[in-house]
Amino acid sequence: MNLTQAAVPESPNSIALFLDFDGTLVELAERPEQVIVTNDLRQLLGDLFQQLHGALAIVSGRPLAAIDALLQPLQLPGAGLHGVELRDAAGAGISAAIALDLRPAADALRRYFGGDGAADSSAILVEDKVLAIAVHYRQQPHRADEAERALRAAVESFPVEIVAGKFVFEARPRGIDKGSALRRLMQMPAFAGRQPVFIGDDVTDEDGMAAAQALGGIGIKVGQGSSIARERLHDPAAVSKWLCGLAGRK
Ligand SMILES: [Mg+2]
Repeated sequence: MNLTQAAVPESPNSIALFLDFDGTLVELAERPEQVIVTNDLRQLLGDLFQQLHGALAIVSGRPLAAIDALLQPLQLPGAGLHGVELRDAAGAGISAAIALDLRPAADALRRYFGGDGAADSSAILVEDKVLAIAVHYRQQPHRADEAERALRAAVESFPVEIVAGKFVFEARPRGIDKGSALRRLMQMPAFAGRQPVFIGDDVTDEDGMAAAQALGGIGIKVGQGSSIARERLHDPAAVSKWLCGLAGRK
C-alpha cells in the first residue's frame, strides 16, 4: 500500500483533531495499563487543545475514565469504548449512548480463563469495561480462536458485536463505532464547521477515518497494513512529530 506520507494541513487552525490513543499516541504495551505517557505528550495535547479552541478529541476503545487517568491532569473531549461514551467539552460529564451491563459475562470469562490475570503476565487478559469486554491474547497468540469462541459464547444474549483488533477481541454495543462517534462530536459547538482529521492505527479506527474523509477531512493510518486512509504516518513517534508541526513547534 502506497499511502501519501501525511503532511501538516495548510490551515491547521481550522481542523478538528480526532486521535486514537493506544498505538497512535503511545506505543502498544504488553498489557494496557503498561503504556508510557510522557509529560511532553500531555503538554503537546494540552497546547493543541487550546490552539484548536477545544476541537481535539481522544477516540479510544478504552473508557474515558481510563484515558483521563493516563492524561491527568489533562481532561480532553473524547469518545470512549469506541463511541459508546461521549464527552464534548473538557470538564463536562460523560454520556453513554446505551445502557448495558456486561459485567456478568466478563466474570464468566475470567472464571473460564482462570483468575483475573493480574498475577500472571502470561495469561489471557479479560478487560471488563462494563459497556464492553476486551479479551487480550497478546501473551498467547496461539489461543486466538479459543479467545474469540469463549467471548462469543459469553455475550451470546447481549446486543453486542465482536470486533477483532491487534491481539484482542472485543464485544461492544452493536451499531456504534468510531465513525458514529466522530459524526456526533462534529455536531458539537467546538467541532462544528471544522475539517475533521482522524489518526489511528487499528481496524476499529477505519470507521473514524472513513467518516472524516466522507466529511471532507483527512484520515491518517499509523503503521503498516491496508487502510481506507489516504495518508500515513509510520509510528507514534511520527504522530508526535506531526502534532508538533501542527502546534508550530520544531
Ligand atoms: Mg489504537
